Amino acid sequence: MPEGRQEIFLSMRNICKDYNGTRVIDDLSLDIEEGEFVVLLGPSGCGKTTTLRMLAGFVGVASGNIILDGEDIQHLPPYRREMGLVFQSYALFPHMTVAENIAFGLQMRRQPREAIASRVAELLDLVKLTGYEARLPRQLSGGQQQRVALARAIAIDPKVLLLDEPLSNLDASLRQQVAHEIRLLQKARGLTTIMVTHDQLEAMSMADRLVVMRNGRIEQAGTQRDLYERPASSFVASFIGGSNIVEGDLDGAMFRAVEAEPVRLASTYAPQPACRLALRPERIVMAPSAGHAGGPGVTGTIELATYLGATSEYLVRIGPDRRLVVRSSVGADHRAGERVFLRWSAQDERVFDSQDRVVAPAVKAASAQLAVSTGRS
Ligand code: ADP
Repeated sequence: MPEGRQEIFLSMRNICKDYNGTRVIDDLSLDIEEGEFVVLLGPSGCGKTTTLRMLAGFVGVASGNIILDGEDIQHLPPYRREMGLVFQSYALFPHMTVAENIAFGLQMRRQPREAIASRVAELLDLVKLTGYEARLPRQLSGGQQQRVALARAIAIDPKVLLLDEPLSNLDASLRQQVAHEIRLLQKARGLTTIMVTHDQLEAMSMADRLVVMRNGRIEQAGTQRDLYERPASSFVASFIGGSNIVEGDLDGAMFRAVEAEPVRLASTYAPQPACRLALRPERIVMAPSAGHAGGPGVTGTIELATYLGATSEYLVRIGPDRRLVVRSSVGADHRAGERVFLRWSAQDERVFDSQDRVVAPAVKAASAQLAVSTGRS
């Protein structure tokens, strides 16, 4: 993020939260710019929803501060925080029409009748539901209901929009459509938005910035590219985009994987007694092992070859119980049973130590040479 250019609009500072004596949010700090779409992402139980609920004011914080637009809001009740909410469980009022649902927040704020009517009409148009105002929620599809929830949330002109798994109750076919609608609306209005999801593809396709959480802490925050190209841990490397993770120990450039063929790495590292090697399936280059002249990489046998149209996916066994997934986009026609040699360039090789932190190469060997031979820079 460019420092000093944008003002911080929403700031969570050193937030902690306990449930029944167990710490579920542990010293979480996050700054969000005005108009930014931030997605909190992580496995179930990592604290995403709790973080969102603390922002909304439904649950209190044990310690720390929440600053919105220069004001400390943590002592304000939910309705005074000026946040719009679309929660998975925050369903529409079933006995109210679409128009009444959308008007709800405006009526609570005692706005004049005519102003409410024109605002509702504008919002119906915005979420493409003009003509549906008299319907009840049960007379709408899931996607339409979620659009009404969105209209209701933004009716009050919130400073921040909070979305908790807004797509998870929708059919796969509708998800992408509603995702696009949310994103277009958010951009058009410059709405500062925080969304929670456990679905990394959904997160990647919608966010300006991703915040990966693990055990109540922020594991890594950054753009899609940051997280994919420079994961800070093997957890992020496997969670974002998917990676082969191989455990073993490392001496120089020799990675001794547990119960597998030795792997010669592209770079040389300081010795690591227990570490992990992370390799992206699409960054591994596969060639027949016959006639292979050595060099960085590992030998294996193709167990499964799957044609997927744009790509082919291979499961390559490199040890009795150790396999690497290799994805190639070229029309290389490898078959199950074939002996192959797998290699990759130095920049695509990631080593994480026993604390799951990045191990920088001591010597970047062979990278230039391999980059030339694989046609990549
Ligand atoms: P996520 O949204 O990432 O799945 P949550 O924020 O819902 O995670 O939960 C984080 C942790 O807090 C979990 O261990 C969960 O069991 C616990 N937790 C959440 N809500 C409550 C609650 N109301 N009472 C007790 N424990 C809770």
